[in-house]
Amino acid sequence: MDFDSACADLVDGLVDAGRIDRPATERALRAVPRHEFVPTSCREAAYQDRPLPIGEGQTISAPHMVAMMSDLFAPDPGDRILEIGTGCGYHAAVTAELVDDTVYSVEVEPALADRARDRFDRLGYDVRVRVGDGFDGWPAEAPYDGAYLTCAPESTPGPVVEQVRPGARIIAPVGRGRQELVRLTRRADGGVDRSRHGGVRFVPMRSPDS
Ligand code: SAH
Repeated sequence: MDFDSACADLVDGLVDAGRIDRPATERALRAVPRHEFVPTSCREAAYQDRPLPIGEGQTISAPHMVAMMSDLFAPDPGDRILEIGTGCGYHAAVTAELVDDTVYSVEVEPALADRARDRFDRLGYDVRVRVGDGFDGWPAEAPYDGAYLTCAPESTPGPVVEQVRPGARIIAPVGRGRQELVRLTRRADGGVDRSRHGGVRFVPMRSPDS
């Protein structure tokens, strides 16, 4: 299978359907080889616009969802970004393309973290992975210029909000059962402004012992 042209077709389709706004998002989606992030058994489906299983009962989001979150997040080159939920590492690689700098990512499942680290090394992505409960963020590397979650908490974790600088954005699927994608912008007074971006379905955020 010609993965390069399958990737180009996928991104062309997303652009034609109006599902990508920012040229930077489009470039990042064209640059990251999604087939390198999915299990060998689903490689042929890597450039279909749908979620795929990545092992340990988890899934990689559909490309249009990664595009939508990247557009909403709109990081600048050089931004220091925190991701919660490394999974297979695809979304982190897209973010690394957007910021052209180190991405900090927390994953609760050690086996997924190990596999993602191997991929980042092999493909040359500067993503640092920590195994732990993303609810706590990654305080040692704070403050961040932005953060996003790829697993759904009941409400946005306070520690993550505290670890971003004033003016920074946090994108998260929030809720149990019904989830909604939200964008929070941290204000200088410590409060947050919130906008809502529709219903979504992500894997729930879980605690390390569940
Ligand atoms: N961004 C990922 C999507 C992975 S799915 C990708 O591109 O593949 C969500 C991930 O969140 C799963 O890997 C799951 O193990 C992880 N997760 C769930 N609860 C978590 C928690 N409390 N802290 C960190 N990661 C968590």
